[in-house]
Amino acid sequence: MGKDYYQILGVDRNALDEEIKKAFRKKAHEYHPDKAGGNAEKFKEINEAYQVLSKPERKKQYDQYGTTFEGFGGQAAYDAGFNWSDLFRQGSGGFRSGGVNFDFGDLGDIFSDFFGQQSRPAGQRAARVSHTANGHDLEINLSVDFNEAVFGIGKTLEIVKMVGCRHCLGNGAEPGTKIETCARCQGQGQISTTQQTFFGAFRSVSTCPDCQGEGKRASQNCSQCQGRGTLKDKVRLKVNIPAGIDDGETIRLAGEGEAGEKGGQAGDLYLNLSVRPSAEFRRQGYDIHTFQKISFSQASLGGKVKVKTVDGEVSLKIPIGTQNGRQFILKEKGVPRLRGRGRGNQLVTVEVLVPKDLNRQQKKLVQQLADEGL
Ligand SMILES: [Zn+2]
Ligand SMILES: [Zn+2]
Repeated sequence: MGKDYYQILGVDRNALDEEIKKAFRKKAHEYHPDKAGGNAEKFKEINEAYQVLSKPERKKQYDQYGTTFEGFGGQAAYDAGFNWSDLFRQGSGGFRSGGVNFDFGDLGDIFSDFFGQQSRPAGQRAARVSHTANGHDLEINLSVDFNEAVFGIGKTLEIVKMVGCRHCLGNGAEPGTKIETCARCQGQGQISTTQQTFFGAFRSVSTCPDCQGEGKRASQNCSQCQGRGTLKDKVRLKVNIPAGIDDGETIRLAGEGEAGEKGGQAGDLYLNLSVRPSAEFRRQGYDIHTFQKISFSQASLGGKVKVKTVDGEVSLKIPIGTQNGRQFILKEKGVPRLRGRGRGNQLVTVEVLVPKDLNRQQKKLVQQLADEGL
């Protein structure tokens, strides 16, 4: 018994023609060698299985004798070296190779899918090439004080990162040496390889490994960066922490990540902000919460108290008969809004202190209050 073609296509022995075709399409897509995760061997096998199971006579023989056809054997056909133009010249969607007639029937849509994958516009391909040389993003954790987050602050960071090489100005060539056309790709920056498959010759284009797609090479690599155009260095970076930023927020600094190699795009720098808590202020959104202790007499008689705000002390009027826990709003004394205008408020909650450790005189006075029913 030869190969189990049913198993290869993953179909039942009683599978209908339609099911066999469906299974083949699915598997052919899955294992196509030009796809990521493709597998040329599997792809051949799938084709072979389909060429047998899709043809009634062959299928009949296979079912009966459980063998492949000597001489038909897929391998010869795969290596026959036909190409797409041959296939299309036939017009009928079939072709002759090695004495065996292959009929592609209506499978043309599979080919067009494959073509679609391969024929990227030049622009897209270029984008893909430069992508490989793009710099990495960086992530840095930065702590700021409560007030720094409220009002914003400029910070100078010291970062060790890949930067453009100053010696060669990023082109990777030792200054004064010649830049030559890359011999491997003849200056094309790309190498195309042709792979023979059962379906024909697939042309795939890849970035030239010698010049990384540049088409040019330095006759002598830069002595500082070994030709990469970038090297690790400690740099100082001034950053503006915007007013109103909150704990846990991230600032993205476009292009401040690591330098790309040879003109590749620089990565971004992400600053993860953490705000050190304040002893006096507690933030909730753009509002600031504080507690204000007032005496029993201030609460009863009213008066003015000094309240700390992020702008400094302000005077707060305590009305007569203020109850413990009452909240006062200091408008626009909160945090500036990060996006948009204005500021949040400060919410002041009063705590009425109950006098304790009274001296003799105080005790006498409180007793008098008590006598008055207070
Ligand atoms: Zn260099
Ligand atoms: Zn090259």
